[in-house]
Amino acid sequence: MMRWWRSHTVRLRLTLWYVVAMVIVLSLYATLVFAFIRRNASDTLDARLRGDFQWASAMVDQTPDGAITWYETLTEEESPWLQVWSPEGELLYQNAEAVRRPLPGVRALALAADDRIVIVEAEVAPERVLTRRGRIGAQSVVIQVARSEAAMRDELQQLVLIFVFGLPLAVAAAGLGGYTLARRALLPIERITERARSITAERLSDRLPVEHPDDEMGRLATVFNETLGRLESSFDQMRRFTADVSHELRTPLTAIRSVGEVGLREHRDADAYRGIIGSMLEEVDRLASLVDRLLTLSRAETGQAKLSLELFDVRELAEDVVAHLDVLAEEKGQRITIEDSGALQACADRLLVRRALINLVDNAIKFSPVGGQIRIKVGGVADEATIEVIDSGGGITSAGRERIFDRFYRDGTDGTTVGVGLGLSIAKGAVEINGGRLALAQTGASGSTFRISLPRIARPVRQHA
Ligand code: ADP
Repeated sequence: MMRWWRSHTVRLRLTLWYVVAMVIVLSLYATLVFAFIRRNASDTLDARLRGDFQWASAMVDQTPDGAITWYETLTEEESPWLQVWSPEGELLYQNAEAVRRPLPGVRALALAADDRIVIVEAEVAPERVLTRRGRIGAQSVVIQVARSEAAMRDELQQLVLIFVFGLPLAVAAAGLGGYTLARRALLPIERITERARSITAERLSDRLPVEHPDDEMGRLATVFNETLGRLESSFDQMRRFTADVSHELRTPLTAIRSVGEVGLREHRDADAYRGIIGSMLEEVDRLASLVDRLLTLSRAETGQAKLSLELFDVRELAEDVVAHLDVLAEEKGQRITIEDSGALQACADRLLVRRALINLVDNAIKFSPVGGQIRIKVGGVADEATIEVIDSGGGITSAGRERIFDRFYRDGTDGTTVGVGLGLSIAKGAVEINGGRLALAQTGASGSTFRISLPRIARPVRQHA
């Protein structure tokens, strides 16, 4: 049953629900209307019967010889069904209606004379009989009037007929209307489905039609389109990344190959071979380091890097990094200084943050001129610890500011820059996985400032998509 139900379209199911609801509501309504009308008709019949009694008791009279007769000014035909009994159960008078429609068991009712309206089964339809004591002249009598339920039953039957034929018609009309409405309301979904079916990885730039952006369907399509947009940019990024990776891997591989080929071309002495193998190993090292960096990046991005959060002194970390890179700075005659505003702690994976800071300071050394100055400023704002790396290089181009953290992006590639453009994206991933941020705070002709912000207490780690 459930499978049958689920296998049908939403449109059909909606219509069926609607029809079932209509049947229940209309049936309830018809039942209530019927009960109300029947009650009213019954009350009216009883009221008329009482009226009949009043009228009849005023219209019957006693002749001088003691017989009961109809008051002469009115014709007998106008009177209702009427019988007059003696208290002992002797029938004293019976009008033409009573003769024409004899009713069973009325004598017993006359003997009881309990002022009740009793329904008596009769030939055509049940009759309501009212029996009450009265007085005609000096004689005490029992007056009995009756009215047939036939008219009332006819009316009620007609009502039932109207309901029996009208109700299915109303339900059918409602069902048809419901189906049309459901069809119209669900039409945008069908269009969305059609279009969505045609969107493949190659056609991610396609978007779903949004007819009314503010209604439910419009919002669904808008959200879907936004998801498509994100997917498209992820796909683009992935394609670019794959192309860049292949390109970067090819360079050392080609170098290894050509060094090998040159080595094999003629016979050489041991020293020459040692030299060739040395340069091949150098390229292998480059390759290994590249693969290593890519792995780090991918681990950070997929959130697989295992964090070991700890509270550490930020200034002490800066000193550690400076000690590590000082040789490089000295080679270029540069000076690295550390400025801080008191002891400050951060809560993060120290090794990952160290790696990020090394990349920043390494860049600062690379891009600052010979004899230039590099400042590392350690500070704190609210619940964050910050480390700023300020160099005295030529700054980053305005085009580069947007893309500086993209993988394989190299700013102002004039051939002089070494590196593959992974350092900043690795640094960013390493900081963000710790719940921190890495940003280019400022850049200009006199240098750039990169700022790492880290939480001072453990913070939920940013989830990577
Ligand atoms: P790499 O790993 O090759 O050093 P990065 O991702 O660290 O690459 O840097 C990407 C590019 O950003 C560099 O090629 C360089 O053009 C630019 N860049 C990075 N840091 C600086 C800086 N301190 N000053 C000027 N340019 C920089």
